[in-house]
Parts: sequence; structure tokens; C-alpha cells
Amino acid sequence: MHTHIVPPDVVRGRRRYSRADLWFGRLYRNERRVLASADDLRRSMRRAGLAASVAFGFAWRDPGLCRANNDYVLDAAVASHEGGGGQILPFCVVPPGDLDFAAAEMECCRARGAVGVGELFPQGQGWNLNDRSAVRAFMDTVRSLGLILTVHTSEPVGHAYPGKDSTTPNAIWSVIEAAEGEVPIILAHWGGGLAFYELMPEVHQLAHNVYYDSSASHLLYRPEIYRVMSQLAPGRVLFGSDYPLIRQTRAIRLAREAGLPANDLAALLGDNARQLGLAGTACRETA
Ligand SMILES: [Zn+2]
Repeated sequence: MHTHIVPPDVVRGRRRYSRADLWFGRLYRNERRVLASADDLRRSMRRAGLAASVAFGFAWRDPGLCRANNDYVLDAAVASHEGGGGQILPFCVVPPGDLDFAAAEMECCRARGAVGVGELFPQGQGWNLNDRSAVRAFMDTVRSLGLILTVHTSEPVGHAYPGKDSTTPNAIWSVIEAAEGEVPIILAHWGGGLAFYELMPEVHQLAHNVYYDSSASHLLYRPEIYRVMSQLAPGRVLFGSDYPLIRQTRAIRLAREAGLPANDLAALLGDNARQLGLAGTACRETA
């Protein structure tokens, strides 16, 4: 569900881009933090035996950088269709606070094959989740375009790390309310703990179209998280790696070793994504 790819120019020029975007700099100024191109992702998918990967760029604050990254991801998706092997399912990134740009860009990207928008990064992109009317206007646009939304989320407690931001379950709730259950929303990194509150009936009622991906799980939780999340949100857990933060082969191995019953593992590794419409033709052929 969750991979990031950037144009080779960003890989080579990370210092320049680190100055252009505060949060990109925080995450990637350090040369040891790996950045991946589309070619890297295709090689990784082949190695991991993956039929499809959802890919998106970095959630830039600047509209022009978003657009350039989207063009790259969309081109990579087309090339993956033509090239055989694993398919790239493209999402697009937009600065959600700039609604005019975001609406036009999402429409354009959808016409070129984007199936979703994200991974959005509220704090890095300056998206004010307390501005309910703006959040509603953005979500209305996402709904009208029939896109899936994915958002970076963080835990309100626990250790600090470079990507930890203010998008806690409490903060993301305005987005879920505005979606009124009609926009599939994928919360990254297991949703920062929101699934626990789905044990409250009124929360579950609004969150029934919220999905949770396992990206970066190895840096955050004990392996039991796979079983707990599969119980808290059955049918709504999606395998994600956060590649290139972790190799896809390793992320899959860790998921397989988490002790899930076979049907829950199959749901995590593809069945739930297919239900959501996230399937490459390669998936359909083998299904
Ligand atoms: Zn993230």
C-alpha cells in the first residue's frame, strides 16, 4: 500500500530539496535515509514477488514540487503497465490547504490514472485540520472525484522520531467526520492508535470506511500489532512498507512472521486491498 518514489533529480539533489522543503529536509537531509526512484521500486517489487505497489511522491508543501513528483509517479505507473512485472498503482500528492490548486491537480492526475491522493502530510504541508470548513471543502472534492485518501498519522505518545508529527487520532478526526463514511481513508502507520477508539460505537460508525496500513510498523510497535489491528479493524488492514524506509522483502517477512492466522494474513497482504479496488491486472490474473 505505501511506497514513496521521487524523480532521480531529487535523489541526486537532496541537499537542494532539503532547503526547499522544511520537512523533506528533516527527513532526508541525512544521506543515510534512502530515497528511491521508480526503477528502484520496480526492482524491489520483482525481488519481493509483489504483483502491485501503491506509490506516491513526497508530500511537498510547494504545489510545483507536488506536480513534478506526480508527473513522475504517473509516468512510472504507465511504464509498469507496459513493462510487465509488478504494477505501480499511482496516488498523487497535493497541498490540501491550497484548494484551487489541489482540486485542479487531483482532477488532472485522476484523468491520467491516479486512484488516490496522498500520502498527505498535514503538519509538513501546513494543512490546518482545525479549519473544519476548509477540511470539508477538500474532502468534498476528493469524494466528487472518487479518489481514495491516504494521510500520514502519528501516535500522541511514545518515542520521538523524524516523521512524528501532530496528526494524532484526535487531529485527523475532522477529516473522517468530513468524509461522512463516503471517502475511503487509509491512515498510514496503523493510524496512530485510532482503531482502539473504534470500540466506541459512534466512532466505529463514522470510521467504517477507514483503513489502516502497516507502514513503518517495525519502528513503532511490537509484532502483536498485526493481530490486534486485524481484530480491531477486520477487512480494513492493508500491508504497507513505507519503502524505501524498509526493504519490501523484509517488511513482508516481518508481516508473515507476526503470527497471523492464514486468512488474516491473506487479507492483509492483498485481499483487503483488492476489495478496496487497489489491484493491478497482475493481481487479478493470479486471483
Ligand atoms: Zn508516513
